[in-house]
Amino acid sequence: MTSPSPLVSRVGRFLVLHEESFVGVSISSNVYVLGDEGSYYLFDASGHPDLLSYLESAGIHGSLIAGAFLTHGHYDHVRGLESLRDYSVPVYLSNRDRRLMEETIRGYPSCTDLSDASGVLSRLGLVSILTPGHTPGSACFYSPGEALLISGDTVFSDGYFGRTDLPGGSDSDMLESLECLSRMKVEVLLAGHGPVVHEQGSRHISKALSCARGMLRR
Ligand SMILES: [Zn+2]
Repeated sequence: MTSPSPLVSRVGRFLVLHEESFVGVSISSNVYVLGDEGSYYLFDASGHPDLLSYLESAGIHGSLIAGAFLTHGHYDHVRGLESLRDYSVPVYLSNRDRRLMEETIRGYPSCTDLSDASGVLSRLGLVSILTPGHTPGSACFYSPGEALLISGDTVFSDGYFGRTDLPGGSDSDMLESLECLSRMKVEVLLAGHGPVVHEQGSRHISKALSCARGMLRR
């Protein structure tokens, strides 16, 4: 494969590898990268089996990746872990989505439940919030200091929210999760798909909640 040229932008502390970067796959998530004292943490791992080539094109070597946090276990967010196996990058994911992840990535060497990741996250100024609905183990990552939310496939820009009709999805859980997120102060919204929201993220979440209230059954 020739060296890929990922579409990269920066939002505060985060580098964004936009989903359009990943060529030759039917669907991929965005990937957010947080640098921390010379090492890097990934938030979602794309749907491209050779994520590592994209990261290296963006100047991030595999040996410097200290962990990968997953918002949920769908293949378009986890498939890139295949290329990180050799580096045994620790993966953090809700146990409730572990089986889903293993449908795509079998026998990954190191996978920790999010409930045991609060130490690592707090050092990065983040907390995880379980937001089931799209999948049973969907989670968001929140930075109170930056009012920044990494929202996976729970909520997107412009009032869109994640589908609930795939296995393990739940309308009532999605409504509760969106209610929970709508009570938080969010400026920057970094969703699993689509564009980055740089300000007034809470407005996008409120819009998603009101759309969901009209469409989903409790
Ligand atoms: Zn998904």
